[in-house]
Amino acid sequence: MNIDQIHWKTEGVVDAHAHFPGKEGIEHFLKILEITSTQQINVLVGPGPRTAKVMDFVMEQRAAHPERIYAFAGICHKIGEASLDDGAYLAQQVEDAYLNNFDGLKMLEGKPMTRRKVAPFALDSDYYRAYWERVIEYDMPVTLHVADPISFWEVDNPHKYAEDMDSKESFYTEIYNVLERHPTLRVSLAHFFFMANDLKRCADLFDRFPNVRFDTAPNPDLMFHLAYKPEESREFLIKYADRVMYGTDINDGNSLYLARAKAENLRLLFESDIRYEPVQNSFQEKPVRSPTGDHMLQGLALPDDALRKICRDNFHDFAAPLPKKNLAKAV
Ligand SMILES: [Zn+2]
Repeated sequence: MNIDQIHWKTEGVVDAHAHFPGKEGIEHFLKILEITSTQQINVLVGPGPRTAKVMDFVMEQRAAHPERIYAFAGICHKIGEASLDDGAYLAQQVEDAYLNNFDGLKMLEGKPMTRRKVAPFALDSDYYRAYWERVIEYDMPVTLHVADPISFWEVDNPHKYAEDMDSKESFYTEIYNVLERHPTLRVSLAHFFFMANDLKRCADLFDRFPNVRFDTAPNPDLMFHLAYKPEESREFLIKYADRVMYGTDINDGNSLYLARAKAENLRLLFESDIRYEPVQNSFQEKPVRSPTGDHMLQGLALPDDALRKICRDNFHDFAAPLPKKNLAKAV
């Protein structure tokens, strides 16, 4: 292997947002962990026709690596059988995930495309009522994707995922309603809640709901929005250093180069004080959607204690210092 391993300032880095659908298998996945110097990784399973299969696959793979791989379970929707007021069956899935040693839950149901294709129900609708109640009962952490990148809603150039959908604000309203109803809900809003262009609003959200976190899984514009106002972003990330978790969106189908680029771009953003050009395909879209056309990123030079929280400790607080033991299969 000819690629340099990444060197972090923090020891034992944890990636809070990754995927492992089985495109390449465990050996390649472990190589990705090696090249990115990732000690532990959280595998998120999304909703869709393969959800149950992928969950089984992930649990099988992690059985041999019980210290390193966390897993968050997705929902298997029975659309067609279900209607707006009979999502009660979802509560059983939360319980099953808990009993089968998943470390938490993943929801992609706040994403416009998922809303259209998989589960056409609002997060604050009756369909999810029993789900949220059981999540609270079991105190399970949830990683939740709400809305989509800021640029998708550009008035003159809307993205195909977002067009014909309600405004971005309507998706935000749903999760605010859920949080009002369940203020103890421990939720990590993926991709910085697609709100990195408005850090004041992010701060209001954090102040209002102490159990809300963000992850930093990059999307076409997240890193630019942070890097374009380095002083403000730095101040925000230091003040809320216990609320933000490093995440890459790496998946086992990524080449080692791509996976490394995803991690290294974030490392440079957090740790360095340099202006740098990100590896373009690390955003999985070409060309990079820089909001202003400036394709350079400015490192934020975060202090070591903030780095330790963001890159390791916060995920341990959110889930646990170690993945749950995979005991269910052994019984
Ligand atoms: Zn993801």
